[in-house]
Amino acid sequence: MNRRDPERSLSVPLRLLERGPITWSATVPAADLAEADDGDRLRIADVEVPSDSEVDVELTLELISGGLSAAGHITAGWRGPCARCWIPLDGQACANVREVFAATPREGEQYRLHPEHADLAPMVREAILLELPIEAIACPYPDPCPNHPPDLDQATDEHAHDDPAEQPDPRWAPLEALRRGQAESP
Ligand SMILES: [Zn+2]
Repeated sequence: MNRRDPERSLSVPLRLLERGPITWSATVPAADLAEADDGDRLRIADVEVPSDSEVDVELTLELISGGLSAAGHITAGWRGPCARCWIPLDGQACANVREVFAATPREGEQYRLHPEHADLAPMVREAILLELPIEAIACPYPDPCPNHPPDLDQATDEHAHDDPAEQPDPRWAPLEALRRGQAESP
């Protein structure tokens, strides 16, 4: 097996495989994997791989009867909002793949192998999309998170700190009345 410096391409010339399996280590811009259908972004709903980030691919490629096998892992960073407070969160998508490329691929099971090269991009793209979180993501803060929209949780929290056992000094009552009056007026 040849160890190579990271490539910048997902198009692999098949002649490189003539003498046996190779390791294809590549780092490519996420923008290269985007499709016009998705607004040129690699994303599922609100979670996306930022187009200025990079995707790492580490695959063992081998010619097999009827095509080429690709096995290894793909990693990409994603960004998506917390489902509760909408602050952007970052995460890592790691996909393990084992796929076959064939000249006449079985629909939905294999990828197309071109006469002189293998285009890994469609496989890398699908593998990442499958690993993006589709369930609601939550930030690490306890519920409600500090950035929760104030109109949703402030109503119940506003006087939570008032301790009934600790009555205010009666001399401050007029000032307190004034403060409450201001708070209630629009
Ligand atoms: Zn949050």
